[in-house]
Amino acid sequence: MRRRTFLAAGGVLLGAATAGVVSRPSSNEELLTAAREPGDAGTASTTTEQLLSGTDHETMLYAIEAPQDGPTAMVFGGVHGDERSGIEVAHEATDWHPDAGTLVVVPETDRVAVEANEREGIDGDLNRHFPADGELRSELARGIWDAVERHEPDVVLDLHRSLGVYGLHREYVGQAVFHSPEARGAELADRLDSDAVPWYLPFHRFRAQETNESGSLLFQHAARELGASAYLFETTAFLLDHETKVETTRLATAHVLAMHGLLDGDRA
Ligand SMILES: [Zn+2]
Repeated sequence: MRRRTFLAAGGVLLGAATAGVVSRPSSNEELLTAAREPGDAGTASTTTEQLLSGTDHETMLYAIEAPQDGPTAMVFGGVHGDERSGIEVAHEATDWHPDAGTLVVVPETDRVAVEANEREGIDGDLNRHFPADGELRSELARGIWDAVERHEPDVVLDLHRSLGVYGLHREYVGQAVFHSPEARGAELADRLDSDAVPWYLPFHRFRAQETNESGSLLFQHAARELGASAYLFETTAFLLDHETKVETTRLATAHVLAMHGLLDGDRA
């Protein structure tokens, strides 16, 4: 139950003052049900591909085609292998049922790093391997990018977890949505605050930050090369237990799909 886990976290800040005070919902069951259950238009069908087959980086891609036409969204977990909440949600999303378009998921993008439970795999930090002015920097980056080019996503979402909070802890970027200029980062931040950030954790309110498209991160490359609406989502380990990080990441993923037309029943 979300409320209890947030209370456990909030208790660190406010002690017993919060007990019994919070009555607002701290999730969005309607949205998550829309993601998990087939809609009126019928069921989705899934195909899988092995990326980087025969290499150390071999990893699975899932393409879930909805019963109705629509945009393609690509979701990445495990670009950093120790950020488990994003990996867990990406795996879960391989069983979701979009209502329109195609949901493409790579749950363990840097599989070597995921298996070692470390940030970086054998080629270093994958999320610095997509420079604007040069060659992709590793075999892994080339294999992942090859899949991105084949699927031509309209929307890209890369799931991460930081140790601190953006703007509060120097050098950390948690509870933030970094986004390409035309993506709906501010709206996503508002939706997450409404669903998942209780009043007694004010420093956990999400910040939206438009990104510099000249960077070498995967989502920046997708925005630059394909014109995708691209997001890098960061939750935080600061005061949040594992289940809360997972739930927040799950909501971010479902909201991005809803905002871009892959899920029906959107509140927008
Ligand atoms: Zn990360």
